Amino acid sequence: MLTIDAEAQSARILELYRDIFPGAEIGSFIGGEIVAGSGATLDLTDPASGQVFASFADAGAAQIDAAMDAAEAAQREWIAMPAAQRGRIMWAIAGQIRAHAPIIAEIESRSAGRPIRDIRGEALRVAEMFEYYAGWCDKIYGNTIPVPSSHFNYTRQEPIGVVMQITPWNAPLFTGGWQIAPAICAGNGVVIKPSELTPLSTLILGRMCELGGAPRGLVNVIAGAGPTAGQAGVTHPKTGLVVFVGSAQAGSAIAAAAAKNTVPCVLELGGKSANIVFPDADIDRAIIGAQAAIFAGAGQSCVAGSRLLVHASVRDRFVSAYAEAANRIAIGHPFDEATHVGPINNRRQWEKIGQMVEAGVAEGARIAAGGARPKALDATGGFYYAPTILDDVTPDMSVAREEIFGPVVSVLTFETEAEAIALANDNPYGLAGAVWTADVGRAHRMAAAVRAGTFWVNSYKTINVCSPFGGFGRSGYGRSSGAEALMAYTQTKSVWVETAENPPVAFGYAPG
Ligand code: NAD
Repeated sequence: MLTIDAEAQSARILELYRDIFPGAEIGSFIGGEIVAGSGATLDLTDPASGQVFASFADAGAAQIDAAMDAAEAAQREWIAMPAAQRGRIMWAIAGQIRAHAPIIAEIESRSAGRPIRDIRGEALRVAEMFEYYAGWCDKIYGNTIPVPSSHFNYTRQEPIGVVMQITPWNAPLFTGGWQIAPAICAGNGVVIKPSELTPLSTLILGRMCELGGAPRGLVNVIAGAGPTAGQAGVTHPKTGLVVFVGSAQAGSAIAAAAAKNTVPCVLELGGKSANIVFPDADIDRAIIGAQAAIFAGAGQSCVAGSRLLVHASVRDRFVSAYAEAANRIAIGHPFDEATHVGPINNRRQWEKIGQMVEAGVAEGARIAAGGARPKALDATGGFYYAPTILDDVTPDMSVAREEIFGPVVSVLTFETEAEAIALANDNPYGLAGAVWTADVGRAHRMAAAVRAGTFWVNSYKTINVCSPFGGFGRSGYGRSSGAEALMAYTQTKSVWVETAENPPVAFGYAPG
């Protein structure tokens, strides 16, 4: 098994960072420059060893001011360019991401603990996000409306101005591209604050935007903590829209803070998604799907299929084959080509997963696989947690209700389709869901009945920038991908032009 000592890890990550930012320390990327913070020291920890590999100073409120000014000025320059030229620049940004993909993937794998075999593909997915939205730049336009007066009435889709984006630690590279690309496509300037635990890949995305030809300061990346830098960005007078990806708890506090300035939000929050298996499904494929649903990314995925609802008639067979497969998953160093499941990103989350599994067992759940850090990885000091299956879970247990955000799946059983739907919807979240069945009618009935922003049939976890993604219920609101994101990132102006020769000038509201 691959192990990398702390010193080598630290040196390599800083070497990669300085390939992109020559000679710079870790700081915020503002107006095209790396700027050191002035707040408390924040440590970056290697999830595979538990060792600190670098530190930086938290961005202060003055940095947020500077980033907002830079984004505002660059946005004016950006929107003054012909739309097709903006599209060409977005395409060039994608080219820069493709050209730097090996560096981006390595730094994300080593610093965020994501398996390198997943991340190489992910860097290219991020390039595709900019390519997709490059094509939209000159296709954002309004309507002409046949109003009943002599006016020519048309609408314009105008950018919001400066957008404040806040992202979590679980997939910083992917989420960074997912948010930045539609925002600039719609003509906005961006200030983005990735998690203080994983800022590096987002800093690099900021630099890729500049290398692709975006005006300096169009995309600013803040290296800082939530309650300090994040909060200052949310409440900043120049912020026109807040896009938040993270926990439901922080999301609701952020939306409340933004509301004080009448600033709208897009919220992409947590989930407790139901993955539902009927007895007529291809069970072997469903078992593979149920592994991808919860164990990929060590379960640190908002759409993770963390509740497995299995029909009672196949449950024993399913759970025993599922457990056998879970025990065979290659878990190890994220930079090892053989690794399918890497460590949990940080100690706090790793401990939380252990505590939630313990609580589930205390409430009556049975561990069918995993349930602890694999013994073989104890010596690494890394935040590893074995793929875990909790069987005999009942709907009232905490492990059936709360997001764990780790490689832990709770198995519940049902007898009828109505019971499966009721169980799936018995949760305040509504991010995703899936059904495994050979009955096409049932597949569509389930797709309509399960309350979720994304639903898969005989599949799990495919998402693409072309398609809208977002939550129902406590999983949030607004969509930040596909054509729908362009509605969130623009505002509609209605323009009335009088065309009559000698029209009466209305006093008060004209009938229109
Ligand atoms: P978190 O809410 O603790 O933090 C997310 C981000 O918000 C971080 O950048 C953090 O610094 C910032 N933040 C925290 N408090 C803040 C405050 N008061 N003001 C401003 N910023 C603040 O979430 P996390 O632990 O980093 O991430 C895990 C959560 O993210 C899970 O719930 C997961 O489901 C969710 N998530 C959702 C999606 C989605 O698209 N729906 C995607 C990925 C992760």
